[in-house]
Amino acid sequence: AVAPVITVDGPSGVGKGTLCQALAEKLGWHLLDSGAIYRVLALAALHHEVDLASEEALVPLAIHLNVRFISQQNQLQVILEGETVTNEIRNESVGNAASQVAAFPRVREALLRRQRAFREAPGLIADGRDMGTIVFPDAPVKIFLDASAEERARRRMLQLQEKGQCVKFERLLSEIQERDSRDRNRAVAPLVPATDALMIDSTHMSVDEVIERALAYVQSVL
Ligand code: C5P
Repeated sequence: AVAPVITVDGPSGVGKGTLCQALAEKLGWHLLDSGAIYRVLALAALHHEVDLASEEALVPLAIHLNVRFISQQNQLQVILEGETVTNEIRNESVGNAASQVAAFPRVREALLRRQRAFREAPGLIADGRDMGTIVFPDAPVKIFLDASAEERARRRMLQLQEKGQCVKFERLLSEIQERDSRDRNRAVAPLVPATDALMIDSTHMSVDEVIERALAYVQSVL
C-alpha cells in the first residue's frame, strides 16, 4: 500500500510550516516543504542568470535541479549544488522570484515527480499551495489553513521585530496581498482549497489551538 499523506495548503505567512513541523514530529512522519523547491529553483535561476520570465529556459533547470534536503536537529537544511542555501532561500526577493517561476505550467509539471517521491512510509506531511488538489489528490487527510491578510502581516511584523528589524505594517500587508493575488489568480494550480479539505481559519487562533484542531482531525480520520 502507498504511504498516507496529510496535505496542508494555504496562503503565504499563515503558519503552514509551523503546523507541518509539529505534525511531522508528533506522528514521526516525513516532511515536504514544496515552497522550498520553488524557492531553490528561483535561486538557481538567479545564480545562473536564467531569465525568470522564460518558461523555455526554466524547464531544463527544474528537471536537473541539484537540490538536497537534510533534516538536522529538526531543522531542514537545503543544499543547492553542494552549497547550503537554507537561509538565503527565505529572502523576500527569492520568495517573489519563486512565485514568478511557479506560475509556469511546464515548470510545475517538471517538479511533480520530485515532490511525489517524498511519499514514503510511515507517512508524509506535505506543505504547499496545491498539495491536496494536484500533487496528492488521493491524500486521506487534507487541511486548508487560512487567516486574514491583516493578521498575517501583523504576525510577520512581530517576527521581524523580534529579529530587531523594523518594517512598516502597510508595506508588509501590500506585499502579502500581492503574493496572494498572484498565487490565487494564476491559470495553473491556483491556490484553492480541495473540495474535501478541512478548513481552519487561524485568524483568531493561537499556534497551539491550530495544532490541536489539526491533530484532532487527523486522529478522527486515520
Ligand atoms: O510557501 P513559500 O512561501 O515558501 O512558497 C514560495 C512560492 O512558491 C509561493 O508564493 C508560491 O507562488 C510558490 N508555491 C507554489 N506551489 C507550492 C508551493 C509554493 O506555487 N506547492
